[in-house]
Amino acid sequence: MKFTEFNFHENILEAIDAAGYEEPTPIQEQVIPTIMEGRDIIACAQTGTGKTAAFLLPLLHKLVTEPSSDHHINALIIVPTRELAVQISTHLDGLTYFTNLSSIAVYGGGDGGSFVQEKIALSRGADIVVSTPGKLIAHINMGYVKVKELKYLVLDEADRMLDMGFHDDIMRIISYLPTSRQTLLFSATMPPKIRSLSQQILKNPAEVNIAISRPPEKIRQEAFVIYESQKIPLVKMILRDKSYNSILIFCSKKDNVKQLTRDLKKAGFNAQEIHSDLEQAQREETLRAFANKRLPILVATDILSRGIDIDHIELVINYDVPHDGEDYVHRIGRTARAETTGTAITFVTEKEQRKLAQIEKLLGKHVPKAVVPESLGPVPDYNPEKRHGGGGRPGGRPGGGRPGGHRGGRPGGPGQSSGPKRSFTPHKGSRGA
Ligand code: AMP
Repeated sequence: MKFTEFNFHENILEAIDAAGYEEPTPIQEQVIPTIMEGRDIIACAQTGTGKTAAFLLPLLHKLVTEPSSDHHINALIIVPTRELAVQISTHLDGLTYFTNLSSIAVYGGGDGGSFVQEKIALSRGADIVVSTPGKLIAHINMGYVKVKELKYLVLDEADRMLDMGFHDDIMRIISYLPTSRQTLLFSATMPPKIRSLSQQILKNPAEVNIAISRPPEKIRQEAFVIYESQKIPLVKMILRDKSYNSILIFCSKKDNVKQLTRDLKKAGFNAQEIHSDLEQAQREETLRAFANKRLPILVATDILSRGIDIDHIELVINYDVPHDGEDYVHRIGRTARAETTGTAITFVTEKEQRKLAQIEKLLGKHVPKAVVPESLGPVPDYNPEKRHGGGGRPGGRPGGGRPGGHRGGRPGGPGQSSGPKRSFTPHKGSRGA
């Protein structure tokens, strides 16, 4: 799926491009059209799934395209902690860069000066307010917070807010909001108290569940950070090592499967391919040979990443980084079945570093980076925050990424602060959080 299919306003598409997002994550695919339709949502999704952009992007689109009051708060995002308020606010800075939407982060721990600044913003109105519950209540109690025309309410990490004892504060805030609003509730878990909160505050919500499974601990995972042109030599090196008798290699595209299988055969390896261009009978025959250990090396697309149950696969190689965390877990789960252990190796080119970083975030841990054999020459740095251009090559700058890649004067990647915009918080993020 492409971001252009959501019919976002061009300024939002520009921000998506500047953030370097190439395609929507699974939660974005599910949540964005529903928010665009105007429905309430209850979504089970952890950090790392792209959930923040899943609600920010459609809200920003709506705020940019629909008439709204300049002197009221139009969208309110309630979060459990200052850290999350800062993080979302920084994300907002990037995504609103090409619009003139205003936003403010309101969270505890600031000094008197920040309270005054928040008071000015909350009484004049702002398109988007990101706030912790306690601090917002403190302002609401003073009577100047303009929420009577609020259109959108987001509760992020709702389970954590309830764990932290914010239930009554949340209900109190909601009692000041118009009932005609659209409400979006995000939670990493769905205990009964979240269900009951959702019944109180959501209207006929769409339910979205993006719970990520985790790979078994017994799989040894490692990644090689290399240039595209080093993939073939490295895969041959690993296969020549002969430590593994049964190897499954995944490529994201069938053309890569065909090319790699051709190269491996030419180099004398006993390898076969499986992808959707082959007849069913042919696929079954190849799979049988692999299952019977007559065939040691199988190269496949993701059609094999789910469901095949062969016990003895010792090594899975991700020749390309899979599209998302769920695919990664499914692919590497092909090894270490039953009681065996297994190894999963992922090749990461410069262009794929960001994808791997997102998978790592989703898994909640880093995939250890293996040392690339010196004979392959210089390799890129692992620096997923950096925007990388195409291919790259060995023999470039030793140990360095490609020069350039950043367009000047734009928000850059997610999490970077933005340039000028209509905002009440000139130093957002640096306030005593
Ligand atoms: P979150 O789950 O909201 O904490 O997001 C996790 C990370 O994924 C953040 O660094 C986002 O900027 C990034 N991200 C969100 N959406 C996308 C996307 N479609 N493609 C690539 N990265 C994304």
